[in-house]
Amino acid sequence: MLSMECNCSQKGHSAPIKVLEVSENAIEKVVDILSDYNRIYMVADKNTYEVAGKKVEKMLKEAGKLSHICIIDEPALPTNANVGKVLIEAGIDRENYDINAFSYNPDYILAVGSGSVNDICRMVSYRMGLEYGVVGTAPSMDGYVSVVAPLINGNRKIVYTCSVARHIIIDLNICAGAPYELLLAGVGDMIGKYVAILDWELSQKLTGEYYCEKVANMVLEATEKCITSAVSLKEREIETIENTIDGLILSGLGIAYTGSSRPASGTEHMVGQTWEIMDVEKGKVPNLHGVEVGEATFAAIVMYKKLYEETNETWLKELIGKYIPAFEKILELQKQIKIPFTVTDKDKFIEGVLRGRTFRVRYTLLQYLYDRGQLQEYAEFAYEETMKYNVG
Ligand SMILES: [Zn+2]
Ligand SMILES: [Zn+2]
Repeated sequence: MLSMECNCSQKGHSAPIKVLEVSENAIEKVVDILSDYNRIYMVADKNTYEVAGKKVEKMLKEAGKLSHICIIDEPALPTNANVGKVLIEAGIDRENYDINAFSYNPDYILAVGSGSVNDICRMVSYRMGLEYGVVGTAPSMDGYVSVVAPLINGNRKIVYTCSVARHIIIDLNICAGAPYELLLAGVGDMIGKYVAILDWELSQKLTGEYYCEKVANMVLEATEKCITSAVSLKEREIETIENTIDGLILSGLGIAYTGSSRPASGTEHMVGQTWEIMDVEKGKVPNLHGVEVGEATFAAIVMYKKLYEETNETWLKELIGKYIPAFEKILELQKQIKIPFTVTDKDKFIEGVLRGRTFRVRYTLLQYLYDRGQLQEYAEFAYEETMKYNVG
């Protein structure tokens, strides 16, 4: 159990995570870390099976701990079909198989992978009442420690309540070898945290929403560290990879600590995920989550900067002003790391900003602008400004 003392109204925070192992060769420790379990159901996709799953399977098998494995076909999206596949294949007692009474053969679910595989297992774990853990293969998203999973159900993307991983095992050497676009996606997911925390503060001021300064600072410090080292992302130094992973985990921990994705998700996630949904609605495979969130972060930053220039409210100018140096740093960073912008169509971009406001019930900059009749104007401005940073 991870915990943190706090004076906020939640009176301290905790998350049911038993082991958090982030190190070079962490994968070697899988059997030791999971020593309490005897029939482990391992889930991977074809890529993650190659880079880590094969090895984990062998180790668990040799230790007599493996129940069986499930490999998800490409593209391994978090669809209801894939959740169903993992759920159905969880029971191997085919002779007496009863869909209404799952054969609880496994005593643990182990996700080998980052984004989708983890999201799927988090859902299946929750629905089966089985503990689960994850062997991370890329620093590509902030969901390792999340309490929710955004799943594709039909042509909609819905955020479901799920389990928190009990064991998080991240091998830095494996992560350092991940495709560059996955590394960029991780940084893309991280740069948005400044916007998320600013939105959270804005909401506290205007709606009286619960806010925890300690959790917010934990996320901001992790973001700062990640962004500072991201300039050398291309060199794939272990330290840079570790800072990205730490950032992703600590912002995830903010989610687990507060029981809400609020500390890690604001305007940038609502817009980025709306773009993802718009692809899903058209039956297209959505782009990487972190890449969409990265681009949407630029949209949020340029809108906040415009509001900073235009507002007559002293408190608001002061609030946004605290974040301006970090925003400038991100705009500068983009010239070096070049996060690819995948949404360049003006109509799609603007629709994402407008619809993003209602992606979930959450007060953000988008609602602030909408209430003042300025959202359309800002969305159009955001498109023109954001495209200036499209250097990927
Ligand atoms: Zn607190
Ligand atoms: Zn994210």
